[in-house]
Amino acid sequence: MSIADKLNTIKSELPSHVKLIAVSKTHPVEAIMEAYNAGHRLFGENKVQELVSKYEQMPKDIEWHLIGHLQTNKVKYIAPFVSLIHSVDSLKLLKTINKEAAKNNRVIDCLLQVHIAQEETKFGLSTQELHDILKSPELDQLNNIRICGLMGMATFTDNIQQVRNEFRNLKNIFDEVKNANFQTESFFKEISMGMSGDYRIAIEEGSTMVRIGSNIFGHRIYS
Ligand SMILES: *Cc1c(COP(=O)(O)O)cnc(C)c1O
Repeated sequence: MSIADKLNTIKSELPSHVKLIAVSKTHPVEAIMEAYNAGHRLFGENKVQELVSKYEQMPKDIEWHLIGHLQTNKVKYIAPFVSLIHSVDSLKLLKTINKEAAKNNRVIDCLLQVHIAQEETKFGLSTQELHDILKSPELDQLNNIRICGLMGMATFTDNIQQVRNEFRNLKNIFDEVKNANFQTESFFKEISMGMSGDYRIAIEEGSTMVRIGSNIFGHRIYS
């Protein structure tokens, strides 16, 4: 199947409230153009340098999402154009994003990444750290960022029940945070969870954004 066919097959099975982030990391601009020409406008990258390079080469009506770990010293490179940062995992990073967004006269939408997997290697906030950020008085001063929801990655395992439990946990955390901190903020509505191997489970458990790479673009070759 072509990239366009694979993209359209996945899109046809997604409920209308679920957005598809086509994860194009490691794939060349030509591959992304195929998805673009099939009508897709929402792409995700996990590295700042690659994101910037693709942004520069590609049409300007694309919404670019950063889905990978972000270092504070690199925020300035993406602040002029990034649509959503999925991977915010500290107050310090939020403050830096706020500062760089202000320099660009914009508000940058962010998700807080929560550690839901059993693996220790995956980035993200513990629930305690999440609550500490949300109750920090400094947060109110950050007028150039908007926290739109939460992101999480499940454990890489064949154990479907475990994956389901981890997604369900993230949905429960989302509901708690929504009630406690964002009850009247209609923009706090996103739960970014689900990848090629587990997006159907993620949708059943309440995902609003799935991040799918290999099922669209094929296997990644890291050089
Ligand atoms: C690479 C990546 C994805 C997509 O993974 P696939 O298994 O290829 O769909 C999703 N989310 C994050 C954070 C990633 O780094």
